[in-house]
Amino acid sequence: MPRPRILVVEDEEDILELVDYNLRQAGFRVLRARDGLEGLRSAQRDHPDLIVLDLMLPGMDGKDVCRRIRQGESTRHIPVVMLTARAEEMDRVVGFELGADDYVTKPFSPRELVLRIQAILRRVAEEEPPDAPLCFPGLTVDPIRYRVEVGGKEVALTATEFRLLYCLARNAGRVMSREVLLDRVWGYHYEGYARTVDTHIRRLRKKLGPARERIETLRGLGYRFRDEP
Ligand code: CA
Repeated sequence: MPRPRILVVEDEEDILELVDYNLRQAGFRVLRARDGLEGLRSAQRDHPDLIVLDLMLPGMDGKDVCRRIRQGESTRHIPVVMLTARAEEMDRVVGFELGADDYVTKPFSPRELVLRIQAILRRVAEEEPPDAPLCFPGLTVDPIRYRVEVGGKEVALTATEFRLLYCLARNAGRVMSREVLLDRVWGYHYEGYARTVDTHIRRLRKKLGPARERIETLRGLGYRFRDEP
């Protein structure tokens, strides 16, 4: 197994050094970029295993970089961990759903960052091999192409939304608690997790349009994907 490559996009030299050092100590290889455009180019060219992306960057900021990564056919599957400077920005990252897989608020402990990266990479590695598309009337979820179609039209989902929908749809008819979803989709436990799941479900429903009815809320229990229309 080659050592995973992590792309770190950060303009603050001391943070870049700190992260670089700690990732290497943890056995990763590190690619560096000092602004958003350089980061995006590296993501497209080098296909790293994961990207650590600062939110505030000169030129193209972290939000735009994240969006572009999620839109790119060759980059949309790459996990992104955002570095954010303030608690408010952390909320915005979650709220606006940029497609980041996780976020760490500055000042952060390098050990915590390494643990989160390891958790994400473990989850990606453990994911079962891609399956055939899940087809329901009016809704197709294709885990090989990471593609969702509602009424024959592609719906753009973030990586997290896709995993959430796929997890629900694969377990169609079964009640999935927030804890189970958190574990399967995010891979570890957030504090205030219920809100995280609920926020993503809300955004997912909005994007699903007419297929939104398939995701049922079971008060006090969790969510269920309806296999019957
Ligand atoms: Ca910065």
